[in-house]
Amino acid sequence: MDRADGSFRKRLEEERERLIADMERLVVTEQDNPGYSTHIADDATEVLENTKSHALRQNLQRLLGQVNDALAKFDKGTYGLCEDCGSRIDRARLKALPSATLCIQCQKQRERS
Ligand SMILES: [Zn+2]
Repeated sequence: MDRADGSFRKRLEEERERLIADMERLVVTEQDNPGYSTHIADDATEVLENTKSHALRQNLQRLLGQVNDALAKFDKGTYGLCEDCGSRIDRARLKALPSATLCIQCQKQRERS
């Protein structure tokens, strides 16, 4: 692992902290607004709010999963390698997206299929 990889790791760790903090904030918000009220008129709005925060949480969990996967790769020594073809992922790509798991070619191929 060279120094550049180390800075990616640091960024991923910071990203993980941020995602966990966001998720905790989301849970607190939900506790402030219990899902089911006795006021029928409010229910539709609350269901909508719950759906939104549910989607948000799922999104955060997905991102957190990606970050954790990327961090696990540092331990395995496979960080920065494409999961499909095994070639090195472009540095510029990792800079833009440290949790990238595919090289740009394989990513394009997946998006096409
Ligand atoms: Zn590839």
